[in-house]
Amino acid sequence: MKSFLEQNISHDSLLTLFSQAPVAMALLIGDDFCIHNANPQMLELWGRDISIIGKPLFEVLPEIISQGFLDIFKSVYHGGEIFKGNKRSVFLEKYGKYEEHFFNFIYAPVYNDDKKIIGISIVATEVTDQIVSERRWKDSEYRFEDLIKNSDYSIAIYQTEDLYIELANEKMLKTWGKNAAVIGMKLDDALPELEGQPFIAILKDIFKTGKTYSAKEDKVDLVVDGKLQTFYYNFSYKPLKNQNGEVYAILNMAADVTDLVLAKKEIQEREEKFRDLADSMPQFVWTCDNEGEITYMNESWYKYTGSTANDNQTKLVKQMMKPATAEIADEVWKNCVKTKTPFVMEFEFEDPENKGTYRWFLGRAVPNFSENGDIKQWTGTFTDIDEFKQLETQKDNFLGIASHELKTPLTSLKLYTQYIKTNLEKAGDPKNANVAGRMDYQIDLLTGLINELLDVTKIQKGQIQLNESYFDFDKLVDEVVEEQQMTSRHKLFVSRTNKIGEVFADRHRISQVMTNLISNAIKYSPEADEVHISTGLNGNDAQFNVRDFGIGIPEDQHAKVFDQYYRISASRDYTFPGLGLGLYISSEIIKRTGGEIFVSSVEGEGSDFCFRIPKIKN
Ligand code: ADP
Repeated sequence: MKSFLEQNISHDSLLTLFSQAPVAMALLIGDDFCIHNANPQMLELWGRDISIIGKPLFEVLPEIISQGFLDIFKSVYHGGEIFKGNKRSVFLEKYGKYEEHFFNFIYAPVYNDDKKIIGISIVATEVTDQIVSERRWKDSEYRFEDLIKNSDYSIAIYQTEDLYIELANEKMLKTWGKNAAVIGMKLDDALPELEGQPFIAILKDIFKTGKTYSAKEDKVDLVVDGKLQTFYYNFSYKPLKNQNGEVYAILNMAADVTDLVLAKKEIQEREEKFRDLADSMPQFVWTCDNEGEITYMNESWYKYTGSTANDNQTKLVKQMMKPATAEIADEVWKNCVKTKTPFVMEFEFEDPENKGTYRWFLGRAVPNFSENGDIKQWTGTFTDIDEFKQLETQKDNFLGIASHELKTPLTSLKLYTQYIKTNLEKAGDPKNANVAGRMDYQIDLLTGLINELLDVTKIQKGQIQLNESYFDFDKLVDEVVEEQQMTSRHKLFVSRTNKIGEVFADRHRISQVMTNLISNAIKYSPEADEVHISTGLNGNDAQFNVRDFGIGIPEDQHAKVFDQYYRISASRDYTFPGLGLGLYISSEIIKRTGGEIFVSSVEGEGSDFCFRIPKIKN
């Protein structure tokens, strides 16, 4: 019996249906699978034209033999089983290009009236585009997952307003102090310690507002390693929206900045501590940049000046300084900036309580360097030394008066002693005359000490007078050496590289310097027998050297020996008398003469003191 289709539908109509169907169809006949029919869609799908009709399929598409299709066709043809292919990959050579395509298809056996299989019908649709986009999507999904997994940030995604943890990377789990078991849980169940903290409410609110929330260095308390601990995070909650613009999830990204915040806090605390310390000091403590702009002043300064942090302190410091010293201070400061060396200077600031009067201050500043050797800032102090200065003046005045007062009776004492000595010699009492002679020597020593004190007071008051005239330098050397030799057991040797001749200077003061250097050489070489004196011309200068073989001077003290009252307590075996003034006076005399004085010395081996003065006044 014929089917309804065969009875009612014309053959032409069936062919039209076949050729116009939106799917690819073909009919293969015989066991060599000859293409009996193939609609245009099928021809397009294979990439072939109508000329293939009547030819065996595997002759037309040889590339599919090795892809297992021959076996499939054979099993459909001989076994009668329908074969369905789902998203099956097929490599086809279409229009000269060998490419992968994807198809859904059905191979069904075709029977004749005797129920014998005479061929195979093929119905196929190409799904290549769908598969490619699926693959791309999958790829991007994998990439996204990979990105999240390997991210330097802690990342989590919360689904729905109940905030189910859909995803949390390793870093986020570590941040929370949890493991992967929390994935799928509600955030507030996974982290119950968030109760009382604002985060859950903020997250839920984002489902309503649709707005991203971000925070910097925010404090979060989390239970990590079984303890509630405080951490600091930079984080953001970003809403993920569907096509309708509705929030369906929140992407949480966070960076742990706990170490940074704690370090910042520590620096802040330290800074506060230092400020407290600086504010509690009676000295004025300050910082400034390399241009000299004050960046900090402590409380004591504000109290002293009655100014506030809003006033321009750089200007104020300059205003407060005594005009005469301000310029010098500026010069010294500029030089320190240039040479990157500490600033030290004494100057006067106006006394705000007694306008027009000034107080002495000691200004000090040290440069703070950055790693590349540039100056970051200067840290300085101004110390009130006014009382100290007054005491120093009192002391100098006292020394001046005392030495002056002592000198007069001492002069008489010397005269009387000499008188007694002469009388005793005349009376034939040499023993007592000798005692009187020793008294006379001691009076000379005392006079020498008092003269040193007088000289120092004169130097300080700027009263030292140089009576300059031409004199024979070589002759003066001989005189001084001869006089020193009379009272010394050391042999004094004099050598001259050349004759110096006439020099324009204060003969008396230069002889004082020579005497001081030679007597020191003798005094500080108790175990030696010789002192070498040498003179000569050095360019236009007269040079005088005294070399001894005594205790020497440690290198770090070389420059200090010319300071007032400076004495080195070096030798354990000897004590040396003296006030520590001789070299100070000598260096002042030489400086005022326009010359230089210096020392080279090795501790334990001896010293070489030398001065040079211009032969003629410049
Ligand atoms: P003083 O009266 O103490 O000798 P000076 O001003 O002449 O004072 O010398 C200062 C210090 O320098 C001395 O106390 C001594 O320590 C050191 N000094 C001076 N000359 C010599 C020297 N030739 N050898 C070693 N040390 C010396």
